[in-house]
Amino acid sequence: KFITFEGIDGAGKSTHIAFVAELLRQRGDKVVTTREPGGTPLGETLRELVLHQPMHLETETLLMFASRREHLAQVIEPALARGDTVISDRFTDATFAYQGGGRKLALEKLETLEQWVHPQRQPDLTLLFDVPLEVARARLDASRTLDKFEQEKATFFADTRAEYLRRAAQFPERFRIIDSTRTISEIQASLTELITAL
Ligand code: C5P
Repeated sequence: KFITFEGIDGAGKSTHIAFVAELLRQRGDKVVTTREPGGTPLGETLRELVLHQPMHLETETLLMFASRREHLAQVIEPALARGDTVISDRFTDATFAYQGGGRKLALEKLETLEQWVHPQRQPDLTLLFDVPLEVARARLDASRTLDKFEQEKATFFADTRAEYLRRAAQFPERFRIIDSTRTISEIQASLTELITAL
């Protein structure tokens, strides 16, 4: 199984990855946790560049897919072939949400790149951690310094969130929307239910 975690910055997804990985391990799954951009040595180098260096939007998008291509080849596909469960902190839905929804790159270009890089592969389950903007921003401001994307204006996050929700509606069979305004223990209860049903 290939499970992806998605959501705007401050939605709380990273808190829940370890919890879900542990749930799966308890039932005997072999679990690989990984992230995008990143997930391989080359991918982590690309992540540093893409998150901190100013560049053209299309350059940024191509580097996201370059990181993904390597990630699929080195980590995701081999793990799935072994029968392991892969949990990735972000995947292609994030590129649609951030570079497409947030930064306005034409979605058709993203579809073309997706067809090129992973024509056959889609997540089996995508958990979308969803919160209203004000909640996300309050959490971010309290917890850490912001990277170049997070410093962009609130409309960017609104557009990013809207694209995530649009994709969730477009692919309801694999998306589950997790209301992240709830307490951590309430969210953990929902996640336990979801994973048990998997
Ligand atoms: O998931 P994580 O918080 O590690 O992501 C780091 C940053 O990368 C986020 O602030 C997000 O804004 C940015 N990002 C992006 N486009 C993507 C994936 C992540 O702008 N496709």
